[in-house]
This record gives sequence, C-alpha cells and structure tokens, in this order.
Amino acid sequence: MNVYDTARMADVLAPLGYSAADGPEDADMVILNTCHIREKAAEKVYSELGRLRQMKEQRMADEPDRAPPVLAVAGCVAQAEGAEMLARAPFLDIVFGPQTYHRLPEMIARVERAAGNNKGKSGRGAGILDTEFPAEAKFDHLPKVSPGARDGKGTMAGCTAFLTIQEGCDKFCTFCVVPYTRGVEFSRPGQAVLEECRQLVSSGVREVTLLGQNVNAYHGTGPDGDNWDLAELIARLAGIDGLARIRYTTSHPRDINDRLFDIHGHCEKLMPYLHLPAQSGSDRILAAMNRGYTAADYQAAVARLRRIRPDIALSGDFIVGFPGESEADFEATMELVRAVKYAQAYSFKYSPRPGTPAALLEDQVPDEMRSERLQRLQALLDDQQQAFNRQMVGKRLPLLLDRGGRRPGQLVGRSPYMQAVHLDASVELLGRMVEVEITAAHANSLAGQLVEPALHRNPRQLERVR
Ligand code: SF4
Repeated sequence: MNVYDTARMADVLAPLGYSAADGPEDADMVILNTCHIREKAAEKVYSELGRLRQMKEQRMADEPDRAPPVLAVAGCVAQAEGAEMLARAPFLDIVFGPQTYHRLPEMIARVERAAGNNKGKSGRGAGILDTEFPAEAKFDHLPKVSPGARDGKGTMAGCTAFLTIQEGCDKFCTFCVVPYTRGVEFSRPGQAVLEECRQLVSSGVREVTLLGQNVNAYHGTGPDGDNWDLAELIARLAGIDGLARIRYTTSHPRDINDRLFDIHGHCEKLMPYLHLPAQSGSDRILAAMNRGYTAADYQAAVARLRRIRPDIALSGDFIVGFPGESEADFEATMELVRAVKYAQAYSFKYSPRPGTPAALLEDQVPDEMRSERLQRLQALLDDQQQAFNRQMVGKRLPLLLDRGGRRPGQLVGRSPYMQAVHLDASVELLGRMVEVEITAAHANSLAGQLVEPALHRNPRQLERVR
C-alpha cells in the first residue's frame, strides 16, 4: 500500500513541477514513506533521518544560494509518532499521515512561507504536522493517475499496478497497529475504482492488484446506491477490455463470502493465487490475537477454495512467538503449515508494537526462543516453496513480462501463481503476455523458454492457457 501511496503522492506533486529523482542527493524534496507494522521498520526511519540531516547540512554548506531540500516523513510511523518525531528531528519540514497526502501542495506552500521567514536557512525545518483523519476522503481529492507513474513493482514496463480499494481496519487484532494508524475501515465507491482502473489500462497496465488492509471486507457503493462486495467489484473490473489479470491482497480468512469463493471458479482474469494470512495454527493463540477464527475454520476455507479452483496457490503470514505461545502452540502452527502446503509465505518474530494490547501482555516469549522457532518454521516453508516451484518444471504457463532481467537479453515475468520466471526474450515483448515452458525451478524463481511466439499478439487466448 505504501508503493501505491507513493505513486499517488507523485501524482499530487506533478502539477507543482516535481518529478521522481534518481536518489535523495540532488532532490529538492525527500519524502520517507514509512511502515510501522514491525519494530525494525520503524527504527530504520530514524537512522535514515540521520543521513538526511547530514545531507541537508552539507547541501546548505556547499550551495548557500540554493533552497535547502524539503524533508518530509509520511506513512504510519509519521501517523503514530508525529509530534514526538518532530521533537526528535527538528530539521524536518513536514510530518504527515497516510490520510492527508492529498494536502501536500498546501503543506509545501507553508514550508515555502516558513523558508521565506528564513527558518529554512537555519537548518531548522518548518515543522508542519498533519496527522488528522479528515472527514472528507483523500481519494475524492486526488488527481487522475499519471501514465507510467504507477508501476507497482518498480519496473520499466509499467504493465502492473497496485490499486487501493479499501483502507483501514476494524478487526483490532491485538498485535496490530493498523486500526490506529490507518483508521477505521473505508471502501472506495465502485465507480471510482472502475474509473481509476480504466485510466491505468489506457496507460498500458495489464495487471492490477487490488489493495486493502482487509481487502475482502470491501463494501463499496455502486453507481445506483447498491452495495458492491469484492466479488462484484472483481466481476465489473473483469469487463474492462485490455485488463488481463486481477489479483487482490490482503485477505482476512473470516471475510471470504460465498460469492468471493465462487468467483475464483469462473473469473478467468482472477489469478489463481491467494494471500490468506493464518498468523498461527493454535486456537488458543488465535483467540488471544483476536483473529476470530480457529485453525479448523482456516483449513475449511482452504479446502473450499481448492474444491472451487484446484490449482490455486496459497500464500500466508505467520507470527512466531506471540506472548504466551508454548511449544505445543508453535507445533500447532507447524501442523497447519504441513496440512495446507503453501506456495510461499511470510513469517516474522512477534514484535511488540506500542499502543497495542498484546504489547502489554506479561508472558512475552524470550527472543532466542522466538528466533529458534522462526528458523524451524521458515525451513518448512522454504521446503514447501521449493516443492511448489519444482512441480512447475515441464509445464506451460502464461506470463506477463513486466521487467528486464539481470543480464542483457533476459526478461522477467510473473506466472499466474506469482512466481518470477526468467527467460531470454526480446525487449519488445516487455509488457506483453507470452507463453513459456518452465525449464528449471530455483528456490525463489523459475526459468523458462518462449513457446509459440505467434501467440504473443493474442493475450486473450493466452489468458485461457492453464
Ligand atoms: S485484520 Fe489485518 S490489518 Fe486488521 S487488525 Fe488484524 S492484522 Fe491488522
């Protein structure tokens, strides 16, 4: 979601004459868009700020006639630590949260006024703080998307993009900061999402990933005032000519309704890949996390999805060492993973986030124990990922070629199951659908070779290749 927000900030700033710089060294403005989900990510912000401060001071010494760079921090660390951050880093000009970036032009005007009053030259920042949750939705105030500015994966092809459809969360899992930093659950109107998707497709995008902290809780208003759930939105998006692939993330296991299960069985543009965080396999820990489901509920959802779409690839999130987690609880997580068999997964040591109920629990698991359990879990998940990748060898898969490879003449594309596939292909095929035969499987990627080049020009046909 931060990638999406960053692209939207670029859209907001473009009319003021800003465009993306190659790096911070020569930039007129630097925005750190931050994540508060884990302790490590939040810590990184302050070390990065130390570097930016030095850069600002150096620039002021080397180029006394040039305005010092505007330094800003955005995102969830800014939201959570706003005033404290300004006190710790007085050289900052702007600190703003995820819900106010549509007001950037106004904030920059205030920085310029402050610089005119000579504050900027002292090395002190303008110190503007905007971490409100405004009543009006920021999406109503954002400009149209800029062609080429929405490449979700940092590639040159610009054929894939993220599209935020839902923000915030009302679930209040006891370990999570999202309800406090992103606010309550909000769904964008269906028509606004369709319109943004059409703009993306007309700028060359072929694959969209619909984003939300709890994306399958989506309940947007349709043009006639009716309520659209995620399945309805996907069905409408699938009707957009030129859009080849749809994905969505992140889902809550409790919020998959019947229509969403079913659409996986009949919407060809919806890719057979689902990120479905389990977090733990222990019912006791799931209850302490306030997740609202049991391990059996989760496995039932997986079994139903596999009945509807037998080739669906599953990804998950796991937190190891939640307060009070015993060896038996951890073993229940290992058991769940063995039963589900993931195509890939993300796993982390529990990290207490200030302000969340779990951070106050007394029976925190010692760090060495968390590390040791994480190692065991990751070894199992790595084995499963490699086994999943190995079973692709010899298969033919449709790929969307979305970036250049590491060596000349090499391109990289995504399989329907989210695997990166490397192959030798002409750069003219960048942004196109092709069919490949998988020739080798590695730990984190596949290798393939092109088949039937004539098919490159017929993406609709390729979408039917399974
Ligand atoms: S559902 Fe996801 S975003 Fe919402 S509180 Fe739980 S972990 Fe956080």
